[in-house]
Formats: sequence, C-alpha cells, structure tokens
Amino acid sequence: MQFTNNADITITFENEVLELFEKHKQLSEKSLEAGGQLFARFNKKEVIISKATGLRDGDKRGRFLFWPNRKKEQNEIKELFGEGYHYVGDWHTHPEIIPTPSKTDLKNIAECYTQSKHDLKYFIMVIIGTDGFPNGMHVSAHNSDQTIKLNFLPVHEVNVSQFL
Ligand SMILES: [Zn+2]
Repeated sequence: MQFTNNADITITFENEVLELFEKHKQLSEKSLEAGGQLFARFNKKEVIISKATGLRDGDKRGRFLFWPNRKKEQNEIKELFGEGYHYVGDWHTHPEIIPTPSKTDLKNIAECYTQSKHDLKYFIMVIIGTDGFPNGMHVSAHNSDQTIKLNFLPVHEVNVSQFL
C-alpha cells in the first residue's frame, strides 16, 4: 500500500507491516494503545517500510497513551541497522475511527527528528485508527518545522500513460 504527497515523497508499506498494524487496532472498548518503530529499505528514491516493531516488554500503555521502552527502541535501531534496515519513524494506535495526530504526537515527532542523529529529510509518523485501510491509517512526513500529510495512492491512479 502506497502513500504520497503527489510530489517528491512516496512511501510503500509491505504487507507484513500492515498485518502488524491490523493486529493492534483498538477495536474493543478496552483495547490499549500500541506502537513501535518503522524501518525501511531504500530503493533509489523509493522508501519501502518493510519492518515495524512493537510491542515490547516495558512499553507503558493506556487507552489514550503509549510510552515506548526507550532503551529497547535504541537496541532495535542498532540491531536492525546491522540487517540493512534504517529507522525512519514511529507508529501507534488511536481509539478513533479515522485517526488524527494529537498536539503531543506532532511535538514528539518533530523533537525526535531534531534530536536523533540521521541523514533523513523526513521522519514518518503512522497512526492506526479502527477503520479499514487506507481510511483508518494516518501517514505523515515530518522534520523540525514541516508536517506533510501523505495521501493514499490507489494502484489504478498510477500514471499508465508512461507505459503506452
Ligand atoms: Zn497519538
């Protein structure tokens, strides 16, 4: 499944990652927030999210909050880098149908971008609501001062004229 800003950013989510998101949707009144990290492989300009992590021991979870185990996050980044995966952002769930980022979410991802050591133009934030995908999925790109909402790119809208 792909999301784009119809310009220079296109993010592809592999099925394994979508399945993990699906598994943690807050579908019942008692489900707690879940979350983890996003890891990508780069293919020229294409960003392919091929691994997502979470949950882990030590994550703090509530109905409307999620505080990851920071130490385990750092270990994941190191371990997966060794396997060729690059940390590119975070995901978490919301108990709402169509998810929208909270002020805290926006502040956290901007801080994370500024304070981490990396060469990326953007970090990616994914929020998973309860609706089916793609509606139940918020995807945005962030750096220290920009928030760019990405839109679902239906396969049939791929520009076919280039093949004709
Ligand atoms: Zn949130």
